[in-house]
Amino acid sequence: MKFKLVLKSLALATAASTALLAAPAQAQQKFVTIGTGGVTGVYYAAGGAICRLVNKDRAKHGIRCSVESTGGSVFNVNTIKAGELDLGFAQSDVQYNAVKGMNQFKDGGAVADLRAVFAVHPEPFTVVARKEANIAKFEDFTGKRFNVGHPGSGTRASMEELLGAMGWKLNDFSLASELKADEHGPALCDGKIDGFFYGVGHPSANIQDPTTSCGAKLVSLTGPAVDKLVADKPYYAKVTIPAGLYPNNPQATNTYGVLATIVASAKTPADTIYAVTKAVFDNFDEFKKLHPALAHLKPEDMVKNGLSAPLHDGAARYYKEKGWIK
Ligand code: GLU
Repeated sequence: MKFKLVLKSLALATAASTALLAAPAQAQQKFVTIGTGGVTGVYYAAGGAICRLVNKDRAKHGIRCSVESTGGSVFNVNTIKAGELDLGFAQSDVQYNAVKGMNQFKDGGAVADLRAVFAVHPEPFTVVARKEANIAKFEDFTGKRFNVGHPGSGTRASMEELLGAMGWKLNDFSLASELKADEHGPALCDGKIDGFFYGVGHPSANIQDPTTSCGAKLVSLTGPAVDKLVADKPYYAKVTIPAGLYPNNPQATNTYGVLATIVASAKTPADTIYAVTKAVFDNFDEFKKLHPALAHLKPEDMVKNGLSAPLHDGAARYYKEKGWIK
């Protein structure tokens, strides 16, 4: 009996000392992953900028941040919902539809645990045409080969809403391809498609490449269907891509678009989201310099515009400390 007891307490002592040894190491190493988009898009670069600022203060908060290239907004929301991503980028229309259980979230239902962290850069819907395809307006793509976006991207979700508003079906194109964002530029320059649609911040390497290498043209996206979408939906606004931003495109391009936002799950720990939020806003001048699409951001807009999910507790804690929200 006595012997047994000794053994037991020895085992307990060993377990306790292992736990003691392990505890500080665990506290120092918390990993957080941000779901982004294709590597040529802006989400991937902006996610890298966020992680860089988080990792700068790793010694203080013990969080190591990394980005993951993903299929985009809808994928990110669904993966956050499944508990497999801590936070991610989502277009503001996708965030809205996830909160309400609408459109692409109709079957899965409202994502009740979705939380908003902050909004980032504007994402104009950008239509790009092959130089030789003779496209002056979006309607000219009927009967042509058009990339409608990869399922799981926010781009595709927004494209479907536009086609619905225009009364078009996928078979109004001779080919409605579903290439990923990283693939549509090369496909355009190789003559495999005549155009693509992409919701992305500007400037973006993804648009820079085909405009530089094969003279691809930005096409305005205007007309009654766009007017109605912008009037009816709280998440859309008209926007102009400035003249001369890309090679071979001296004209301004009128279109409409959304905001990029950062979302997380209510289950993502508040301390983690607080640390990420603090890293961005405590180093805001540096953050804006890390990618040209971030250059014009303003904190007062980022804590409210485009956010339809409730604020994450960790983000709200930081904004209250700053006096940005009540
Ligand atoms: N807005 C795009 C999407 O969710 C991704 C844009 C990007 O990667 O910068 O499909």
